[in-house]
Amino acid sequence: MSRKFIRIDSVTELEKIASAKTIENIFFKKHLRNFSSEKVDALVHELDREITPEIDCTQCGNCCKKLEPELSTEEIEKLASVKNETPEQFKQNYVLHDGKTNFLKTKPCIFLSENKCSVYESRPQACAGFPHLDLKDYKYKSTFWSNYSLCPIVFNVIECLKEKTGFRP
Ligand code: SF4
Ligand code: SF4
Repeated sequence: MSRKFIRIDSVTELEKIASAKTIENIFFKKHLRNFSSEKVDALVHELDREITPEIDCTQCGNCCKKLEPELSTEEIEKLASVKNETPEQFKQNYVLHDGKTNFLKTKPCIFLSENKCSVYESRPQACAGFPHLDLKDYKYKSTFWSNYSLCPIVFNVIECLKEKTGFRP
């Protein structure tokens, strides 16, 4: 890949670099107003294809340590059977219900083992799609910006987006 790509060796390092760029990112979001949502989305999709294969998620696992993935009823049933529990037991032990949606409430995730997902084939859709860089409306998508300090892929996509859109800090 020809583009400048920032290798991150640890979560602490990522949080430190991301925090130092807080003000810069406020100006970058303003800069993005000069581009249509369609243009920004197309650039994010292109950068996702370039950057994601460059990052080894097994060296990171940060999303599995810090986030609580959404779970459908079918996913609860599948994960409960992995734990040899009934869906009701599983819900009681590991699921948070916010009145509308179910989430796996353990952080780090109970299925994370040596930075790898031990239920990879049965992992929830929310995990399989993370960091969700094939969607739309990134200019205003809060999770895109909040994942900047959590996920090295998102961090690099946003940094390369600055370069692609001619942003000068
Ligand atoms: S998706 Fe992002 S946060 Fe999750 S393991 Fe891969 S690089 Fe780390
Ligand atoms: S189910 Fe697997 S991919 Fe999802 S958070 Fe847990 S360890 Fe990570």
